[in-house]
Amino acid sequence: MMLHHCLIGIWRKQNQMTNEHWSEKANCRQVKGIDFFADDINLIQRAKKVCERCLVAAECLKQSIRAEEIYGVWGGLSQRERRKYHRLYDDKMEINQAREIVIKHGNKILG
Ligand code: SF4
Repeated sequence: MMLHHCLIGIWRKQNQMTNEHWSEKANCRQVKGIDFFADDINLIQRAKKVCERCLVAAECLKQSIRAEEIYGVWGGLSQRERRKYHRLYDDKMEINQAREIVIKHGNKILG
């Protein structure tokens, strides 16, 4: 979990041109004891549950693909689920494309 937060922090630093970075609204910043890099399916499901209530899941997914994050749950998608999107999309992926992917995988985009 700590590593996950560190990576989000790095993403934020890389994008300090904007006053408010999307990661400020990341739901995983509010929870403790969730392992976003677990191999166990039950723990992966717990992490994905956190993402289900995240308002910035599409932004997270887009950034994880752009950063070529291989491991962990990002944007509500498991490592396995995101693997194919690494192949399909590059860093030019539009945010609407990311939203469609997140919705397809069951997350609710509330904002
Ligand atoms: S989608 Fe999940 S991993 Fe990404 S910022 Fe939201 S809670 Fe964190």
